[in-house]
Amino acid sequence: TDTDTSDEAVRATCDDATACKRFAISKGYWKDPYIQYFVRSVGERKAPEINRGYYGRVRGVNHLLDAFIKKTQRDCQVINLGAGLDTTFWRLKDEDLLPKKYFEVDFPTVVARKIHYIKTKPHLSKPIIETHSTDSLLLDAHSLDSDRYCIIGSDLRDIATLDEQLKKYHLNPELPALLLSECVLVYMTPAQSSNLVHWAANTFHTAMFINYEQVNMSDRFGQVMIENLQRRQCTLAGVEVCRSLDSQKDRFLRTGWDHADALDMVTVYSMLPQEDVARIERLEFLDEKELLQQLLQHYSICWATKDKLSLGLSQLAF
Ligand code: SAM
Repeated sequence: TDTDTSDEAVRATCDDATACKRFAISKGYWKDPYIQYFVRSVGERKAPEINRGYYGRVRGVNHLLDAFIKKTQRDCQVINLGAGLDTTFWRLKDEDLLPKKYFEVDFPTVVARKIHYIKTKPHLSKPIIETHSTDSLLLDAHSLDSDRYCIIGSDLRDIATLDEQLKKYHLNPELPALLLSECVLVYMTPAQSSNLVHWAANTFHTAMFINYEQVNMSDRFGQVMIENLQRRQCTLAGVEVCRSLDSQKDRFLRTGWDHADALDMVTVYSMLPQEDVARIERLEFLDEKELLQQLLQHYSICWATKDKLSLGLSQLAF
C-alpha cells in the first residue's frame, strides 16, 4: 500500500542521516568513534554546506541535551524518539554524562538492524554490558533492555503501545525526562505529532522536549526541499507545522508545555562557540556562503519545558 511505501521511505531516512554524519566526521567536523560501526564506508562526498549544516545540528542539539543532563545532575532519563542509528548513548557514557536510563524508540525494523550491529560489535556492546549490574540482559531481535540503555521497536503514532512499552522497561514518570526528536515529527501528521508531544507533557511533571526539524518551508527553497523528498516517496506529512518558528512553538504551548522557544539554525549557528566554528570553516572551502545561509534558514531547534520541581529548566538556552 501507499502507507507501506511511504513508511519504508521514512525508515530509510535514518541511513541518510548516518551517512551524512559519517562523512562530516571523516572530514573532522566533530568526533564520533562509534558511527563507523553503523555505517562501514565513508560513502560519497557531501557538499561543504551540508557538512556545516550537520555540524550545527549536532552541536546545537548536544548543547541543550548536555545542559539538561547537567542541570538534573544526571538524575534524569533521556528518551530519543525516532533515534535511528544515533550514537548519543555512547558519547554520554564516554563524557560521564549518562542519565539514569537512556531510551530509544524507532520502527521495529530499524531497531532490529541497530541491535544486530550492537550484538556483533564489541565496541558497541561493551559499554552497555559495563553499565549493567546483573547478567540478565534482555537482548532479542526487536528490543534491548539493560540498566542504563533500552531500545524499543514501536510506532510513535501509536501512543498507547508506546506508553505501555516504555513503562514495561521502567520509564519513571517521577524522574525528570528529556525527550528528543531529530527530523522525526515532520513525517507525522500535525495531529499525530501533537498527540505525541501531549503524551509527553501528560506523562512527566518535569521535562524538556527538544525538536530539530525543517522550518520556513512556505518559500521557494522550502518547496524544492519538499519536492526532493517526494521524489523518493517520502511524505512530509507534518510540513504544515514547519511553516514558522511560531507554529513550532505552538505545537508545545497547546499541549500542556509551560514554556517554549524556537530558533532557526542561522541563529543557533551564530551562537555556537565561535573558535570551533572558525576551525570547521577552515576544513573545506565554501564558495557560496548564500547556500549555507539558505539551508540554515530552513531548519530550527524548538525546545519546551515544564518544571514542577523548579530545577530552572526554562533558563536552558543558547
Ligand atoms: N534522529 C535520528 C538522527 O537524527 O540521526 C534519525 C533521523 S531519521 C531522518 C528519522 C527517523 O525517525 C528514522 O529512523 C525513522 O525510522 C524514525 N521514525 C519516523 N517516523 C516514525 C514513527 N512513526 N515511529 C517510529 N519511528 C519513526
